[in-house]
Amino acid sequence: MKLYNTLSHQIEEFTPQNPNEVKIYTCGPTVYSFAHIGNFTAYVYWDLLIRVLRLNGWKEKRVLNITDVGHLTSDADDGEDKMEKGARREGKTVWEVAQMYMDDYLANFRKLGLIEPYAICRATDFIEEDKKLVEALDEAGYLYDTTDGLYFDTSKFPKYADFARLDLENLLAGARVEFSDEKKNPSDFAVWKWIREGEDHAMKWEFRGRMGYPGWHLECSTIIHEKLGEPIDIHCGGIDHIPVHHTNEIAQSEGAFGKQMSRFWLHNNHITTEGQKISKSLGNVYYLNDLAERGYSPIDFKMWLYQGHYQAERDFSFEQLAAAHARLMNYRNFAALRWQGVEKSDFAEARAEILDCLNSNLNSAGAFAALDGAAKSGLAPSDEFLKFIDEAFGLEIAAGTPDISDDLKAKIAQRIEAKAAKDYATADKLRDEIAGQGIELLDSADGVKWAYKG
Ligand SMILES: [Zn+2]
Repeated sequence: MKLYNTLSHQIEEFTPQNPNEVKIYTCGPTVYSFAHIGNFTAYVYWDLLIRVLRLNGWKEKRVLNITDVGHLTSDADDGEDKMEKGARREGKTVWEVAQMYMDDYLANFRKLGLIEPYAICRATDFIEEDKKLVEALDEAGYLYDTTDGLYFDTSKFPKYADFARLDLENLLAGARVEFSDEKKNPSDFAVWKWIREGEDHAMKWEFRGRMGYPGWHLECSTIIHEKLGEPIDIHCGGIDHIPVHHTNEIAQSEGAFGKQMSRFWLHNNHITTEGQKISKSLGNVYYLNDLAERGYSPIDFKMWLYQGHYQAERDFSFEQLAAAHARLMNYRNFAALRWQGVEKSDFAEARAEILDCLNSNLNSAGAFAALDGAAKSGLAPSDEFLKFIDEAFGLEIAAGTPDISDDLKAKIAQRIEAKAAKDYATADKLRDEIAGQGIELLDSADGVKWAYKG
């Protein structure tokens, strides 16, 4: 299996350390608002990764975190706390806000049919472990204290700029990066924030005799250490995490534990909607519920995403979603041929081609091209082949096409007879009854076939 590794900036052959326990970590959501389709993009792509690992005979051990503390609006160490912002907006406590949006996120995760991780970890359940990591970093000499918090001195971690190929000199000159006089380098970041005199913060814990809370990046290093152990096999996240969040995770973990944090780093690109960055002010923020209102399922959205590549920026529109839905229905009706006395095939060649594409850095678009070829063959898929494609994509291609009732089959037979007898009034009446049950009839070279309507 080949994957693009951000660490080496190239495609590399991936083999796990332990095939029965491929250690994977995915940076999860900050639960302060409802997750829209752009937020789910990463999790849909990483589900494909998990499925392809399984197709190779490996078993994953995957951890996903839920950020419910410490994430400030800037992604760096300034701006408002996202949880407190959500709490004020909702008139709820930060804890209620976290619970509500976490529940919603997980409900949508399941609606998308995504494989359940081995562990889903809330950041606030790891505060004691966070403190231990801070102590370890302090003992190793990486930290210095400021009135704002304990900061990581990035000049003491020589590899700091490597991962994101950061230009630290430009960073210093850049006006965009604001930093207090107390910070030694502009790239330094807080591992622990102090609550200062006159400030309040709803989530706070005692540490070294003062109240404070963990810096946002800390939880991922902590949870990986506690639940998986370094080095992990694959760390996943969005490309926006490369220059700050993931760079800081690496500095913390490798600084504290002296081992490589992750062997592979995979980053997904983002989606725009209707040609623009997803933003409330542009009115182009869509949730899975908005898709459902227009008659599209979460699985249609997955189909749309998989038509492109996880490293490419994609633009979402309802026209594109309609096309993806039609393609998925075409696959499902290919699967429905198995109920109609059509000769079956294992499609060994298409299967090998699909696996080959997926093993080539998750080339799902190429895999679909191979599936299109099978769907056009005029043969029906064997149960074995259907099992394979449902495991590969999670698109419910077989599951979405149960056999039709005997009653409906009898009606189809009657309609064929009526038409042959030129009794068009009866034939049309039966056709409408059949259509009312979501089935359409298609003439083909070897007789009339039924298909699910799109
Ligand atoms: Zn993270």
